[in-house]
Order: sequence, then structure tokens, then C-alpha cells
Amino acid sequence: MDIFSLWGEFYNDPWFWQFPMATLAISMVAFLTVALPWTIVAWIDPASLRKYKIQQKPFEVKKYFLPSIGRILINNLIVAAFLVLTWPLLKLTGVHNNELPAWYVIVAQLVFFVLLDDFLYYWMHRYMHENKWLLRHVHSVHHRVRNTCGINGNYMHWLEFSLTAMVTLIGPILVGAHIYVIWLWVIIRQIEGADGHIGYDIPWNPVHFLPVYEGPVYHDFHHAKFKGNYAGFLPYLDKYMGKTYIPAYLRYLKAKRDGLIAEEIAQRETFEKQSSKVVR
Ligand SMILES: [Zn+2]
Ligand SMILES: [Zn+2]
Repeated sequence: MDIFSLWGEFYNDPWFWQFPMATLAISMVAFLTVALPWTIVAWIDPASLRKYKIQQKPFEVKKYFLPSIGRILINNLIVAAFLVLTWPLLKLTGVHNNELPAWYVIVAQLVFFVLLDDFLYYWMHRYMHENKWLLRHVHSVHHRVRNTCGINGNYMHWLEFSLTAMVTLIGPILVGAHIYVIWLWVIIRQIEGADGHIGYDIPWNPVHFLPVYEGPVYHDFHHAKFKGNYAGFLPYLDKYMGKTYIPAYLRYLKAKRDGLIAEEIAQRETFEKQSSKVVR
């Protein structure tokens, strides 16, 4: 079979467009829908919102905007190629577009996807920090930006992007999910991926309504401190299993419970650092 007739077989198969291709397109659009408005906010850096900036220093929007857009396009193209190559296997999975399951089954599946994805992502991400080769040649790309804005969420090496996409699809393939549930899941996953990088801890951020998500501060501390806070959605792995919770993040949470906002917490941290130097 030559390459053109092989392509024709894909092209004329509506399930190929509905399952891998539409899922990839929805995932990219969901990411950009959250990431772009927050990137514009970070670019403008309005004075009224500066008190909510998690890191009280300038964003690196201009330097990394075009590289982020470039990487996002290339990474999505590579995943598209990967999906084409694996299509003969993907179409054998139980993923379907028949009748939708009951709402409670959908909820249970989404909870399962979050738990599984977060568990696998935690260990993959942590390994990318512990393995010197992966850190230097792959994961370091994502860590070039220390004070991130939304669009930097998908600024990463193509291998990391492909592995992350693969991890996201494992849950739905295991349960043989309905395609609409997969679309909902990738939207939730990309909201997390974008929101984790917005750089602001704003009380009225609508994403706080997502019950399973820790919020943007969690991953922001990962970029600021580089070690620790490896999970995406939930902090339990860093907190209990890996003991990789960042101490400054714990202090941040405590200060927030005391009623402080990002700017005051940063000031308190600087003040305490300086006073501990004086005491020494
Ligand atoms: Zn990292
Ligand atoms: Zn990140």
C-alpha cells in the first residue's frame, strides 16, 4: 500500500477525525482560550493586579511569547504525526461515540482520569528532574521561564509534550471512554496546564471552582524554586508520598489563611529572610 492510499484510508474515516484529530484540536483551543487572555494581562501588567502577582518581579512575556507559539505549533504537529502513526492501534481501543454513559459514570471517569494522570505526571515530572540527561536536554526547555505567564504552559520540548499527551490519554483508553467525555477531560487538563502558569493568585479566578485543582500558586512555586511541587492537580503526592512539598509554598498557604495576598506574602518572606540574616 503506498502512502497516498494509506492517507486516503485515514482521510475517509470519520472516526479518525473525531477521535484523535478533534481531540488534539480541542485540547489546543482549550489551552489557548485560557492561556492567551492571561498572557495579555501579564503583557500589560496592570498596576491594579500587581498585588496578586505570585512572584513580585517582571514577567518574561516578550522574550518567550513567539518561542512559546512556535513550540506549541510544532509540538501539536508532532503529536498529530504520532497519532497518525498509532491510529491502527488507537482504533482498536474501546473509545467510542455510541450512547453516553450516565452522569455519575462520567463523573467517576473524570475523577479517575485526574487521579491517574496526576499520579503518572508526578513521577514522570520528578524523573525528568532526577535524570540529568532528561533535565538538561528535555525538561530544561520548560524551565527557561522562571516567572511564567499563561502561554508558557505548553512551552516545552516536543518529547515532554508528547509524553504528557500520552499520559493524558491512558485513563480514557483504559476505561474505553465516550469521545465527549475525552473532550471534556482534555479541556479540564488544558485549563490546568494553562492556569498553572498564569502568574497571578487572584481570588476571583474562575478556575478556583474546579474542585480537584490546587490553583496556579502550586506550580508557580515549582518554576520559582525549581525543586518540589511536581504534581499538576493535587498536592497529596508531594505532601505525603514524595515529601517534595516546597516549604515556601507551605508558608504561602499559611499566610493566605491569615488573610494576606500575594504581594504581602512576598514582602513578609523578604522581611523574614533579612531578619534571619541579621540574627545570624
Ligand atoms: Zn519541572
Ligand atoms: Zn510549568
